[in-house]
Amino acid sequence: TEVIMQETEKLSVIGELAAGIAHEIRNPLTSLKGFVQLLRNNMSQYQHYFEIMEAELNRINYIVSELLVLSKPQVLHFKKRNVAEIMDSVIFLLKTQAILKSVEIIAQFPNNLPELECEENQIKQVFINLLKNAIEASPYGGQIFIQASLLGSDAVRIRFIDQGSGIPEEQIARLGEPFYTTKEKGTGLGLMVSNKIVQDHQGSLKISSRLNVGTTVEVILPISPKERRN
Ligand code: ADP
Ligand code: MG
Repeated sequence: TEVIMQETEKLSVIGELAAGIAHEIRNPLTSLKGFVQLLRNNMSQYQHYFEIMEAELNRINYIVSELLVLSKPQVLHFKKRNVAEIMDSVIFLLKTQAILKSVEIIAQFPNNLPELECEENQIKQVFINLLKNAIEASPYGGQIFIQASLLGSDAVRIRFIDQGSGIPEEQIARLGEPFYTTKEKGTGLGLMVSNKIVQDHQGSLKISSRLNVGTTVEVILPISPKERRN
């Protein structure tokens, strides 16, 4: 089964509303975090409660920042960046999570890959979301291949290939819907946000999956996208 993710415009009505709300949540959240930290330093007997409070605040913060990516308008400033370096930093970030499942990450980047004009932090976010999904889907001891290649002369293709259980046909249509998740602790925002970022870079995101074989997520990014206001 294969699905090319749709234009975010068609999908993101709820997402945009959520982004607006997320914006409003940001400020009180920051102030709460500050006071929790302050109290934690003065009430050491309640250390454990404070840890839980901070972890929960971090989770809300994470969800809010994912939602904010969807908010418009956003002005993008593309700069030339080395994709392999961005990927290395992402692999480093998720290494402990992979080690916990004995998952091996094999990145294959050709030497001749040109620099990509992009918003580095956003592309990093896409790679984090896709690699995280691949790790979460992987069986114990599985392998994940990250393959990059030059597509013609003006685009780069990056594939995340996992050996997970795959995605059933009836679920594949729902991918990228806001808050659609099959995970107990999932947010159901990763694919939607990734798709939005890739679209902002005038690229495309495609998911193909075979049950009990694995899933491949393919991102195609033009080397020199035109900057535009969304
Ligand atoms: P989350 O990871 O928080 O659930 P995502 O938007 O990243 O949200 O993914 C949505 C859903 O898509 C996941 O819950 C999962 O069911 C499915 N999915 C995404 N990537 C993969 C993958 N590599 N293998 C299997 N299922 C996947
Ligand atoms: Mg995810």
